[in-house]
Amino acid sequence: MKALLLNGPGKPFSIETIEDPTPEKGYAVAKVLACGSGLTIQHVKAGRIIVDYPRIIGHEIIGEIVEINGESGDLVIGSPVTAFFYLTCGHCRWCNIDRETLCDNFKGYIGREIDGGYSEFIKLPIENFIKIPQAIDYKNNLLETAVVCDAVATPLKVIKKARINSFDKVGVIGAGGGLGIHMLKMLNLNNISSIGIDTKTEKFEVCNRNGAEFSISPMDNDLKNKINEFSKGCDLDVVIDFVSSKSSLELGASILGKGGRLVTLGGSGENFLANSSDMLVKELELIGSRYCTKQELKESLDLFARGLIKPLVSIKTNFNGAEELHNKIEIGEITGRAGILI
Ligand SMILES: [Zn+2]
Repeated sequence: MKALLLNGPGKPFSIETIEDPTPEKGYAVAKVLACGSGLTIQHVKAGRIIVDYPRIIGHEIIGEIVEINGESGDLVIGSPVTAFFYLTCGHCRWCNIDRETLCDNFKGYIGREIDGGYSEFIKLPIENFIKIPQAIDYKNNLLETAVVCDAVATPLKVIKKARINSFDKVGVIGAGGGLGIHMLKMLNLNNISSIGIDTKTEKFEVCNRNGAEFSISPMDNDLKNKINEFSKGCDLDVVIDFVSSKSSLELGASILGKGGRLVTLGGSGENFLANSSDMLVKELELIGSRYCTKQELKESLDLFARGLIKPLVSIKTNFNGAEELHNKIEIGEITGRAGILI
């Protein structure tokens, strides 16, 4: 099969012909039709996350099952599938209560610990393949279907985890990024009023088109005033931070009102300062939200199947265009999501 191989950190993709995967017991193989391209996998491409090389990255897939070895549940040959990004054990206490992202025996990620979707075929543990509902016309929406498993499912979990409802006023930091835009869409779908906060002012129009009431740079001197106006002096009920650097988290905490919740999704690893008295007096909450559960992935597919939300995929290319596409992702030039048709 043809595949895009990464042969080292920061190296360009190499289009190579390698052996087709054969599934051992408990695994299945799908023919990949398309694979989404987001910042998560660019971190691997750029060498900020080190993996064993050669490695095939990509986890937001749409494919069709071609081979199964083992108990397959509802999957048959030909079933259209997407993938659950995390490699979990399926039997620990967290997996048992549908909180797979906390798995005690976490085994890593598709496209990092095992090969991912930038190839003609992908081999995964059977339980990582999630069937696409019949109502989704995936053949005419390959990349839109492929990216639901992360770009829609991650924001869906945030809404639930931070208990966001239509009475809340929400700020999204990193609103112009792939996940940020879909967060705005998901908030809008739930009739929740939101604002976009992003350093890239050229993304404001698309943020506003996808649900933000307005968008503003974190560097804007007028930021606090504008938020005051938006919240009628009450500050924000929820801040969702996709950047999660020291400065963005501290900004997030500073614009929360009483009962406010700060949600962090970034993995910068940086420490940040919050004022304990503010946290007490305002009863603030700090919430980490990581990816999604399989159940939330299925719910996201259902939302797409019912026409309630459609992912925004602005660039569709192929193996030959992958290098250029990833250069654009690196400098934050993509609107919404992008991906590769295979
Ligand atoms: Zn587990």
